[in-house]
Amino acid sequence: MFANMKFWETDAQAKGYAVPHFNVWNMEMLQGALDAATELHSPVIISMGTGFLQNTVFENYAPAMVKAGMEAPVPVILHWDHGRSFDIVKHAYAMGMNSVMIDKSAEDFETNIRLTKEVVDHFHPMGVPVEAELGHVGNETVYEEALANYKYTDPDQAAEFVERTGCDSLAVAIGNQHGVYTSPPKLNFDVVRKVRRAVSVPLVLHGASGISDEDIKTAISLGIAKINIHTELCEAAMQAVAANPGTTFLDLEQKVRAAIKQRAMEKILLFGSDGKADR
Ligand SMILES: [Zn+2]
Repeated sequence: MFANMKFWETDAQAKGYAVPHFNVWNMEMLQGALDAATELHSPVIISMGTGFLQNTVFENYAPAMVKAGMEAPVPVILHWDHGRSFDIVKHAYAMGMNSVMIDKSAEDFETNIRLTKEVVDHFHPMGVPVEAELGHVGNETVYEEALANYKYTDPDQAAEFVERTGCDSLAVAIGNQHGVYTSPPKLNFDVVRKVRRAVSVPLVLHGASGISDEDIKTAISLGIAKINIHTELCEAAMQAVAANPGTTFLDLEQKVRAAIKQRAMEKILLFGSDGKADR
């Protein structure tokens, strides 16, 4: 069933769990993620983004996301991740996504505010929640180098940013990074504490693959209400491929789907969103 991002993020924030966000860009990932949410009675966010278009034609794939999401027995949010432009998120909505992220975090503060507000003003009358990012969660690179020039979320700016843009949730930069961490992640929980106090909207943790279970639990306890996972789903898929040489492709794809489901279930249990679909 289709579900509302804002409702579930707010519910998670109030009850101290995190809504799982899985980037999925093929049928095995889509079905594996929904299998996991269904088995554990969890709300779930299935999400696409520009980075995955090198393999997947969104216009063909989106109808599968919409149909599978609608028919799932658990609440499903269809989300566009890291929208880099107004046109991209408008297109995502036109293709059936019911939640979007506009990411202008690489721009300066005022530009980020102006461009985010434009998107919020466009989508709010349609009831579509908008996630934005302040500070900057970078892309796959050498982690130590990224940390040396890291743009943490500024708690003082966060209050002004949320106030002026009207965004519904805020992605924070606390030492997290997309892709594979080349050394253990060093999260600055003090930033989470301060941002949590400065704003009332739910907070989002990107780049959570590879962050220890202990740190994830700490982040949730401090108010992170949505957590994004992609890389670990890919790793689970690749491990399934490596572990099953000599089988048929059809059999292999089923094993990949099962591996995605397994990893997604581990995350759902870690995030504490299991059973939350039962109301
Ligand atoms: Zn992200």
